[in-house]
Amino acid sequence: MSTEPDMDQIRIVLVRPSHPGNIGAAARAMKNMGLKQLVLVAPEAFPSDVATARASGAEDVLINAPICDRLEHAISDCHHVVTTTARNRSLQWDNVDARKAANQVIRQSRQGQVAVVFGPERTGLSNQEIELSHQLVHIPVNDDFSSMNLAAAVMLMCYELRMAFIDEPESYISESEIEKKATSGQVEGFIQHLHEIMAQIGFLTNKPSDRLMGRIRRLYNRSHMSEQDVNIMRGILAGIQSRIKR
Ligand code: SAH
Repeated sequence: MSTEPDMDQIRIVLVRPSHPGNIGAAARAMKNMGLKQLVLVAPEAFPSDVATARASGAEDVLINAPICDRLEHAISDCHHVVTTTARNRSLQWDNVDARKAANQVIRQSRQGQVAVVFGPERTGLSNQEIELSHQLVHIPVNDDFSSMNLAAAVMLMCYELRMAFIDEPESYISESEIEKKATSGQVEGFIQHLHEIMAQIGFLTNKPSDRLMGRIRRLYNRSHMSEQDVNIMRGILAGIQSRIKR
């Protein structure tokens, strides 16, 4: 019987990777560290012989990787989403290093699907994409040269995940954590519902709503809503809507 850690609830998401070589190298790094679930969002060139060559032995990870056109779709069933970033965007974020993030990812993965998201080589992720996460992870490298190669960043995160798992194979989950966390898709459904009502009551007239909705999304993601929290909030929104109709 294999003694390999079971980290099947953890997916690695690469958003708009431009170099197929990085996709292959990321798959290889993942398999070395015992992770299998790779999801690609709008890769520039995939499938690709270059990716397959760089995977050298981890082709199964590539073959099984679903391809999505948007990050929202890649994480909609995840209740915990951490995003790696080359820049330290400290202000409104829960910002942690790779080791702390890995510990939490392992704990959260005992309750359902969890995603670790990586951005494109040239630009990193957009603010709208970053707003979908619960936590930002910055690998504290040389401040004067902080951008790592994408596949190297994947390797480092996967190594920390493996170490966190080995340190705490059966980590204890407290009572308060047992309440079922809402998935990214459920929270997004609530935010869309709220947006609809804001439009109905004229709150959004003449104002571009993207920044405001981004702020609201960050606010709710910070609070890590449970399924029940989402149901309560949506119940209130439905009540407001039926009052408006009357
Ligand atoms: N020029 C981009 C760099 C992107 S590097 C920028 O400034 O954002 C590609 C991806 O590798 C990043 O989006 C992130 O997912 C990961 N990465 C690179 N350096 C990192 C670091 N120091 N900490 C965490 N992730 C990093």
